[in-house]
Amino acid sequence: MEKKQFQAESKRLLEMMINSIYSQKEIFLRELISNSSDAIDKIYYKALTDDSLTFNKEDYYIKISADKEKRTLTIADTGIGMTKEELESNLGTIAKSGSLAFKTENEAKDGHDIIGQFGVGFYSAFMVADTVTVLTKPLGSEEAYLWKSEGADGYTIETAEKETVGTEIVLFIKENSEEDNYEEYLEEYRLKSVIKKYSDFIRYPIKMDVTESKPKEGSEDEFEDVQEEQTVNSMVPIWRKNKNELKDEDYANFYAEKRYGFDKPLKHVHISVDGAVRYNAILFIPEQTPYDYYSKEFEKGLELYSNGVLIMEKCSDLLPDYFSFVKGMVDSEDLSLNISREMLQHDRQLKLIAKNIKNKIKSQLLSMLKDDRENYEKFYASFGRQLKYGVYSDFGANKEDLQDLLMFHSSTEKKLVSLADYVSRMPEDQKYIYYAAGESNERIEKLPQTEMVSEKGYEILYFTDEVDEFAIRMLMAYKEKEFKSVSSGDLGIEDTEAEKTEEQDEENKELFGRMKEILAGKVKDVRVSKRLKSHPVCLTADGDISIEMEKILKAMPD
Ligand code: ADP
Ligand code: MG
Repeated sequence: MEKKQFQAESKRLLEMMINSIYSQKEIFLRELISNSSDAIDKIYYKALTDDSLTFNKEDYYIKISADKEKRTLTIADTGIGMTKEELESNLGTIAKSGSLAFKTENEAKDGHDIIGQFGVGFYSAFMVADTVTVLTKPLGSEEAYLWKSEGADGYTIETAEKETVGTEIVLFIKENSEEDNYEEYLEEYRLKSVIKKYSDFIRYPIKMDVTESKPKEGSEDEFEDVQEEQTVNSMVPIWRKNKNELKDEDYANFYAEKRYGFDKPLKHVHISVDGAVRYNAILFIPEQTPYDYYSKEFEKGLELYSNGVLIMEKCSDLLPDYFSFVKGMVDSEDLSLNISREMLQHDRQLKLIAKNIKNKIKSQLLSMLKDDRENYEKFYASFGRQLKYGVYSDFGANKEDLQDLLMFHSSTEKKLVSLADYVSRMPEDQKYIYYAAGESNERIEKLPQTEMVSEKGYEILYFTDEVDEFAIRMLMAYKEKEFKSVSSGDLGIEDTEAEKTEEQDEENKELFGRMKEILAGKVKDVRVSKRLKSHPVCLTADGDISIEMEKILKAMPD
């Protein structure tokens, strides 16, 4: 038997690859399973055009089995197999992808489900194995071949025996080192969880012999370990199912299964887009604020799949910060992946998807605000503050997206109202949108500064969150109505008594002078107020900044 060398470049590439392309060792299983799935797809596509072939779905599967004693992990499939030439060219040349060639040749048919394209995934097996064998029997041949390699120093191919068409890959798992645990890939639970994580939506069954503790026959309290073949993956991703066939419950189950949160989602959005970029997405608006939501630890992002295979667990580029509470996933076949399939090559498609998603979230929230106020209020209690931060950050660049989603407590309605609600109720002579800032609604209610505005019959919005006034400053106006604090000097309310107050100021000149002396450094001026009704005295801001805002600014570190 002749030993062949990997091509020179390949040798270096292999070393580099084993040590650096993938951020996690567990990825090797995703890669091998993806190859098996591709191999089954190829038979399927062949059957579409070749009448002598039939495709019985039940005959096609992937089987994973581990043998702790022999330290082997086997990935077997009933796919198309490889001829000797294909073994040489596809597994003998790194960066040669038989799958890419297949896709190009079969462009006319819809071969776009095939995952492989870079011709490196297979070698990731060497991250966890020191020897890999590939026993394969190609479709339409009586012969089988055994490919064997111990990594960088080449491979051998010999003829072998195999009954059925397909491929069986055996990894001889490395021994644990001080830093690395390889033997975990011989553990049932570990394999299961890696399969679930990356390959749950592979279209063919991924089978495993699973040990389960079951009650012994004829006994109630004695258990025994029983081995049973199980299909580990769910196969059909919920996002590829027909929306009409899915119930709220199905989405809620998916949310729980994916551990997007421990609450029940308030709302889900199922998107299938077949436009400039094709993608499916399921997005959730959670009900409760995650415990770390308003902390630095919180990481936003959606799961990103390429053709049903998980590429990124938290793709942050898919969500703007102000919608960081959204959970869910995106699956697209149009992504340009980098070689490790852990990152994206160009983000043009991703940007398009992100923009699209942002608009969907916005319109969902708007319709919830309009038609499902009760749930919107729940949502707002959890994440309203994030929307307000969103208005404030980036110099107000996102205000168009967010202003309609804001709500504040109203003096007249005694509940949360939107700015649109407020403006629609404004009497004709009212020039401004009035607001009052304070610690709580109860406190604001008692503020003397609110009297004049309320007396006039105008509604006041209560700002109880520190960010409120900052956000409103970024907005400046809503539907061309400017915001005005009830404690600002000029309230813009028709002044019929100007002369009278001037007179009174004059009359009390001495008293006010004395008061100013005593309060020196604390107040700038003492004057007769036009706005008080039942209170004897109130504080008024002279400049642009309200008293509440001044307090916050003073408390901020320089
Ligand atoms: P990619 O999947 O990106 O093409 P890989 O390194 O994962 O790259 O695989 C290289 C090639 O080897 C594949 O394109 C395919 O032609 C072939 N191959 C790998 N695994 C199998 C398999 N289980 N059955 C049939 N062919 C396979
Ligand atoms: Mg591959």
